[in-house]
Amino acid sequence: MSSNTPAAPPRVLTVAGSDSGGGAGIQADLKTMLALGAHGMSVLTAVTAQNSLGVQGAWELPAEAVRAQYRSVVDDIGVQAVKTGMLGSALLVETVAELLSDVAAPVVVDPVSVSKHGDRLLADDALDAVRTALLPVATVATPNLDETAELTGIEVTGERDMCRAAERLLSYGPRWVLVKGGHLPGEAVDLLTDGTEQLWLRAPRHDNRHTHGTGCTLASAIAVELAGGRAVPEAVRRAKEYVTGAIAAGFPLGSGLGPVDHGW
Ligand code: PLP
Repeated sequence: MSSNTPAAPPRVLTVAGSDSGGGAGIQADLKTMLALGAHGMSVLTAVTAQNSLGVQGAWELPAEAVRAQYRSVVDDIGVQAVKTGMLGSALLVETVAELLSDVAAPVVVDPVSVSKHGDRLLADDALDAVRTALLPVATVATPNLDETAELTGIEVTGERDMCRAAERLLSYGPRWVLVKGGHLPGEAVDLLTDGTEQLWLRAPRHDNRHTHGTGCTLASAIAVELAGGRAVPEAVRRAKEYVTGAIAAGFPLGSGLGPVDHGW
Protein backbone atom coordinates (compact mmCIF):
# COMPACT_ATOMS: atom_id res chain seq x y z
CA MET A 1 0.00 0.00 0.00
CA SER A 2 1.46 3.38 -0.91
CA SER A 3 1.70 6.07 1.75
CA ASN A 4 0.68 9.68 1.14
CA THR A 5 3.10 10.94 3.79
CA PRO A 6 5.59 13.27 2.08
CA ALA A 7 9.31 12.45 2.45
CA ALA A 8 10.90 14.30 5.36
CA PRO A 9 13.36 17.05 4.39
CA PRO A 10 16.95 16.94 5.74
CA ARG A 11 17.10 18.11 9.37
CA VAL A 12 19.67 20.82 9.97
CA LEU A 13 20.48 22.55 13.25
CA THR A 14 21.95 26.00 13.76
CA VAL A 15 23.61 26.87 17.08
CA ALA A 16 23.89 30.64 16.89
CA GLY A 17 22.79 34.10 17.98
CA SER A 18 19.68 36.04 17.02
CA ASP A 19 19.85 39.18 14.84
CA SER A 20 16.73 41.22 15.60
CA GLY A 21 17.08 42.91 12.19
CA GLY A 22 16.63 39.56 10.44
CA GLY A 23 19.73 39.79 8.25
CA ALA A 24 22.32 37.53 9.93
CA GLY A 25 22.50 34.94 12.72
CA ILE A 26 19.72 32.46 13.38
CA GLN A 27 17.36 34.35 11.07
CA ALA A 28 19.73 34.09 8.06
CA ASP A 29 20.41 30.45 8.89
CA LEU A 30 16.74 29.45 8.98
CA LYS A 31 15.96 31.39 5.78
CA THR A 32 18.84 29.63 4.00
CA MET A 33 17.67 26.23 5.22
CA LEU A 34 14.12 26.92 4.06
CA ALA A 35 15.29 28.20 0.67
CA LEU A 36 17.40 25.07 0.14
CA GLY A 37 14.69 22.63 1.18
CA ALA A 38 15.83 21.64 4.67
CA HIS A 39 13.97 21.55 7.97
CA GLY A 40 15.82 24.17 10.06
CA MET A 41 16.09 23.96 13.85
CA SER A 42 17.78 26.33 16.27
CA VAL A 43 19.71 26.36 19.51
CA LEU A 44 19.86 30.02 20.50
CA THR A 45 23.10 31.13 22.21
CA ALA A 46 22.62 34.89 22.43
CA VAL A 47 20.16 37.65 21.62
CA THR A 48 21.36 40.80 19.87
CA ALA A 49 19.56 44.12 19.49
CA GLN A 50 20.69 44.82 15.95
CA ASN A 51 19.72 46.67 12.78
CA SER A 52 21.26 47.89 9.54
CA LEU A 53 23.53 50.27 11.52
CA GLY A 54 25.15 47.67 13.78
CA VAL A 55 24.74 45.84 17.08
CA GLN A 56 23.25 47.97 19.86
CA GLY A 57 23.30 45.27 22.56
CA ALA A 58 23.98 41.56 23.12
CA TRP A 59 22.88 39.16 25.84
CA GLU A 60 24.11 35.62 26.24
CA LEU A 61 21.92 32.70 27.29
CA PRO A 62 22.94 30.51 30.25
CA ALA A 63 24.91 27.38 29.30
CA GLU A 64 22.09 25.32 30.81
CA ALA A 65 19.59 26.81 28.32
CA VAL A 66 21.92 26.00 25.42
CA ARG A 67 22.35 22.42 26.63
CA ALA A 68 18.59 21.95 27.14
CA GLN A 69 17.69 23.24 23.65
CA TYR A 70 20.29 20.95 22.11
CA ARG A 71 19.09 17.85 23.96
CA SER A 72 15.46 18.59 23.07
CA VAL A 73 16.29 18.70 19.37
CA VAL A 74 18.87 15.93 19.11
CA ASP A 75 17.25 13.36 21.40
CA ASP A 76 13.89 13.41 19.63
CA ILE A 77 14.15 14.85 16.11
CA GLY A 78 17.82 14.15 15.33
CA VAL A 79 20.14 16.14 13.10
CA GLN A 80 21.78 15.39 9.76
CA ALA A 81 24.09 18.42 9.94
CA VAL A 82 24.90 21.17 12.43
CA LYS A 83 26.12 24.72 11.87
CA THR A 84 27.58 26.92 14.63
CA GLY A 85 27.72 30.72 14.51
CA MET A 86 27.93 33.39 17.23
CA LEU A 87 28.80 31.73 20.54
CA GLY A 88 29.79 34.85 22.48
CA SER A 89 31.87 33.56 25.39
CA ALA A 90 34.49 30.94 26.25
CA LEU A 91 31.89 29.17 28.40
CA LEU A 92 29.44 28.79 25.50
CA VAL A 93 32.20 27.79 23.07
CA GLU A 94 33.24 25.03 25.48
CA THR A 95 29.63 24.00 26.15
CA VAL A 96 28.80 23.72 22.44
CA ALA A 97 32.06 21.92 21.64
CA GLU A 98 31.32 19.35 24.32
CA LEU A 99 27.77 18.82 23.04
CA LEU A 100 29.06 18.31 19.50
CA SER A 101 31.95 16.05 20.45
CA ASP A 102 29.90 12.89 19.84
CA VAL A 103 27.27 14.07 17.32
CA ALA A 104 26.86 11.64 14.42
CA ALA A 105 26.53 14.36 11.79
CA PRO A 106 28.82 16.79 9.96
CA VAL A 107 29.52 20.05 11.80
CA VAL A 108 30.14 23.38 10.04
CA VAL A 109 31.88 25.88 12.34
CA ASP A 110 31.63 29.55 11.37
CA PRO A 111 34.02 31.02 13.97
CA VAL A 112 32.15 34.33 14.15
CA SER A 113 34.13 36.99 16.03
CA VAL A 114 33.39 40.48 14.65
CA SER A 115 30.49 41.83 12.56
CA LYS A 116 30.97 43.83 9.36
CA HIS A 117 30.25 46.94 11.42
CA GLY A 118 33.12 46.05 13.76
CA ASP A 119 30.95 44.90 16.69
CA ARG A 120 32.57 42.14 18.75
CA LEU A 121 30.49 38.96 18.83
CA LEU A 122 33.07 36.77 20.61
CA ALA A 123 34.94 37.60 23.81
CA ASP A 124 38.71 37.97 23.35
CA ASP A 125 39.34 35.27 25.95
CA ALA A 126 37.20 32.78 23.96
CA LEU A 127 39.66 32.47 21.05
CA ASP A 128 41.64 29.80 22.82
CA ALA A 129 38.53 27.68 23.35
CA VAL A 130 37.67 28.05 19.65
CA ARG A 131 41.14 26.75 18.74
CA THR A 132 41.39 23.93 21.27
CA ALA A 133 37.76 22.77 21.75
CA LEU A 134 35.54 23.89 18.86
CA LEU A 135 37.73 23.56 15.76
CA PRO A 136 38.61 19.93 16.59
CA VAL A 137 34.92 18.94 16.25
CA ALA A 138 34.49 20.73 12.90
CA THR A 139 34.00 18.89 9.64
CA VAL A 140 34.47 22.27 7.91
CA ALA A 141 35.53 25.58 9.49
CA THR A 142 34.70 28.75 7.55
CA PRO A 143 36.71 31.74 8.89
CA ASN A 144 36.87 35.02 7.03
CA LEU A 145 40.20 36.84 6.88
CA ASP A 146 39.68 38.78 10.14
CA GLU A 147 38.80 35.57 11.98
CA THR A 148 41.73 33.81 10.31
CA ALA A 149 44.09 36.53 11.55
CA GLU A 150 42.71 36.31 15.10
CA LEU A 151 42.97 32.52 15.20
CA THR A 152 46.35 32.09 13.48
CA GLY A 153 48.17 35.41 13.89
CA ILE A 154 48.60 35.46 10.08
CA GLU A 155 47.49 38.64 8.29
CA VAL A 156 46.45 37.45 4.85
CA THR A 157 47.22 39.83 2.00
CA GLY A 158 47.32 37.34 -0.87
CA GLU A 159 46.80 33.75 -1.96
CA ARG A 160 50.14 32.50 -0.61
CA ASP A 161 49.24 33.73 2.90
CA MET A 162 45.87 31.99 2.55
CA CYS A 163 47.68 28.64 2.10
CA ARG A 164 49.86 29.25 5.16
CA ALA A 165 46.89 30.30 7.28
CA ALA A 166 44.85 27.29 6.11
CA GLU A 167 47.67 24.96 7.17
CA ARG A 168 47.82 26.59 10.61
CA LEU A 169 44.03 26.31 10.98
CA LEU A 170 44.12 22.61 10.00
CA SER A 171 46.67 22.03 12.77
CA TYR A 172 43.89 22.91 15.29
CA GLY A 173 41.91 19.87 14.14
CA PRO A 174 39.07 20.60 11.68
CA ARG A 175 38.78 18.06 8.85
CA TRP A 176 38.49 20.81 6.23
CA VAL A 177 39.00 24.54 6.29
CA LEU A 178 37.47 27.13 3.97
CA VAL A 179 39.44 30.38 4.23
CA LYS A 180 37.14 33.07 2.80
CA GLY A 181 39.07 35.71 0.91
CA GLY A 182 36.03 37.88 0.20
CA HIS A 183 37.61 40.87 1.97
CA LEU A 184 40.59 40.94 -0.44
CA PRO A 185 40.28 43.25 -3.47
CA GLY A 186 39.37 41.74 -6.85
CA GLU A 187 37.60 38.42 -7.38
CA ALA A 188 36.00 36.75 -4.33
CA VAL A 189 38.48 33.87 -3.85
CA ASP A 190 38.15 31.20 -1.17
CA LEU A 191 40.53 28.34 -0.41
CA LEU A 192 39.11 24.95 0.62
CA THR A 193 41.58 22.34 1.83
CA ASP A 194 41.89 19.25 3.99
CA GLY A 195 45.69 19.28 3.77
CA THR A 196 45.66 16.91 0.78
CA GLU A 197 43.19 18.41 -1.65
CA GLN A 198 43.38 22.14 -2.34
CA LEU A 199 40.51 23.84 -4.16
CA TRP A 200 40.36 27.50 -5.11
CA LEU A 201 36.79 28.74 -5.45
CA ARG A 202 36.33 31.91 -7.41
CA ALA A 203 33.29 34.09 -7.93
CA PRO A 204 32.88 37.49 -9.59
CA ARG A 205 32.67 40.39 -7.12
CA HIS A 206 29.24 41.99 -7.02
CA ASP A 207 29.26 45.71 -6.53
CA ASN A 208 26.67 45.56 -3.75
CA ARG A 209 27.22 46.84 -0.21
CA HIS A 210 24.12 45.08 1.12
CA THR A 211 25.86 41.88 2.22
CA HIS A 212 24.84 41.55 5.88
CA GLY A 213 24.55 37.88 6.77
CA THR A 214 26.87 36.53 4.07
CA GLY A 215 28.96 34.33 6.38
CA CYS A 216 25.95 32.85 8.20
CA THR A 217 24.27 32.11 4.87
CA LEU A 218 27.30 30.37 3.39
CA ALA A 219 27.90 28.17 6.46
CA SER A 220 24.21 27.23 6.64
CA ALA A 221 24.11 26.38 2.94
CA ILE A 222 27.15 24.12 3.38
CA ALA A 223 25.38 22.38 6.29
CA VAL A 224 22.25 21.77 4.18
CA GLU A 225 24.31 20.29 1.34
CA LEU A 226 26.21 18.04 3.76
CA ALA A 227 22.92 16.93 5.34
CA GLY A 228 21.80 15.91 1.85
CA GLY A 229 24.80 13.56 1.67
CA ARG A 230 27.16 15.56 -0.55
CA ALA A 231 30.92 15.39 -0.08
CA VAL A 232 32.56 18.51 1.36
CA PRO A 233 34.05 19.94 -1.90
CA GLU A 234 30.73 19.62 -3.76
CA ALA A 235 28.75 20.94 -0.76
CA VAL A 236 30.99 24.02 -0.53
CA ARG A 237 30.90 24.62 -4.29
CA ARG A 238 27.09 24.56 -4.33
CA ALA A 239 26.85 26.68 -1.17
CA LYS A 240 29.15 29.30 -2.69
CA GLU A 241 26.91 29.46 -5.76
CA TYR A 242 23.94 30.02 -3.48
CA VAL A 243 25.59 32.79 -1.46
CA THR A 244 26.88 34.49 -4.62
CA GLY A 245 23.27 34.73 -5.82
CA ALA A 246 22.12 35.95 -2.42
CA ILE A 247 24.81 38.69 -2.42
CA ALA A 248 23.90 39.78 -5.96
CA ALA A 249 20.29 40.15 -4.78
CA GLY A 250 21.13 41.88 -1.45
CA PHE A 251 18.82 44.82 -0.88
CA PRO A 252 18.76 48.11 1.07
CA LEU A 253 17.03 48.07 4.45
CA GLY A 254 17.07 50.76 7.15
CA SER A 255 19.69 53.48 6.74
CA GLY A 256 22.82 51.29 6.85
CA LEU A 257 23.78 47.96 5.32
CA GLY A 258 21.01 45.72 4.04
CA PRO A 259 20.96 41.91 4.03
CA VAL A 260 21.62 39.28 1.40
CA ASP A 261 18.42 37.97 -0.15
CA HIS A 262 17.25 34.37 0.14
CA GLY A 263 14.43 34.54 -2.38
CA TRP A 264 16.47 35.07 -5.56
N1 PLP B 1 24.81 39.08 14.24
C1 PLP B 1 24.85 37.77 14.45
C2 PLP B 1 23.93 37.19 15.46
C3 PLP B 1 25.73 36.98 13.71
O1 PLP B 1 25.80 35.67 13.91
C4 PLP B 1 26.59 37.60 12.74
C5 PLP B 1 27.53 36.84 11.92
O2 PLP B 1 27.71 35.68 12.03
C6 PLP B 1 26.51 38.95 12.56
C7 PLP B 1 25.61 39.67 13.33
C8 PLP B 1 27.37 39.70 11.60
O3 PLP B 1 26.99 39.53 10.30
P1 PLP B 1 27.73 40.38 9.17
O4 PLP B 1 29.18 40.36 9.52
O5 PLP B 1 27.41 39.64 7.92
O6 PLP B 1 27.17 41.75 9.18
